[in-house]
Amino acid sequence: MPATARKSAPSAKRTPSPERPERDATVDEIYERIYVAILEHRLQPGIKLGEEKMAEIFGVSRARIREVLARLAHEQIVELYPQRGAYVAKPTPEQARDVFEARRLIEPAVLKRLIDTVTADKINRLRQHAELEADARRRNDKRAVIRLSGEFHTLVAELAGNSSLARSMRELCMLTCLTIFLYDAPTAQSCRHDEHSLIIDALAKKDRARAEKLMLDHLDHIEGSLQLEDNGGEADLVEIFRA
Ligand SMILES: [Zn+2]
Repeated sequence: MPATARKSAPSAKRTPSPERPERDATVDEIYERIYVAILEHRLQPGIKLGEEKMAEIFGVSRARIREVLARLAHEQIVELYPQRGAYVAKPTPEQARDVFEARRLIEPAVLKRLIDTVTADKINRLRQHAELEADARRRNDKRAVIRLSGEFHTLVAELAGNSSLARSMRELCMLTCLTIFLYDAPTAQSCRHDEHSLIIDALAKKDRARAEKLMLDHLDHIEGSLQLEDNGGEADLVEIFRA
């Protein structure tokens, strides 16, 4: 755990409000708000995270904001530039491919760990989450769909019970969300609607081989729906001016 990742006081259960915070938001709480904003695509790649503005929004010192930004920079979610400040990261196509490669290694390990420790209660939690996703799709709430899709993967990691894997999954989900924002092909989807349910079915049956295969196919589908060709930053001017 990075030194900046502090647990909030046990008595502090209230959701922090940006308007009138009753007490200072902790590093964890501010981090969580940024995490959700990235997952919902409200906070987009390349957006400046001004220290002063952020301190004002969360009603905390600039030092605390710097702590949060340092943690996010450590996780590659934020890029820090001397003199210029902090910006939400814009993963390159190469970094995007690295993220999917890491997920293909980590997520089967997560599934194995979950199958080893699976209970009816854990399966219920996953089904409830899948139901929230289905509900957001029915309402056509795109922000909720993309956030819940990402959170499905972190929930699987949390239920697996390995805090290191769960933390890595959260970072990778944030990077995946930034990647989807940057390289979304017109046909791209975050997670296909029925694939999470199929994975849950395999977990419920403790069918490790099938759960793993479904997850790897699932990741292939997400990566395959993105446009990750590296054009070295050169736009196709002929194509642009064809119209
Ligand atoms: Zn998914």
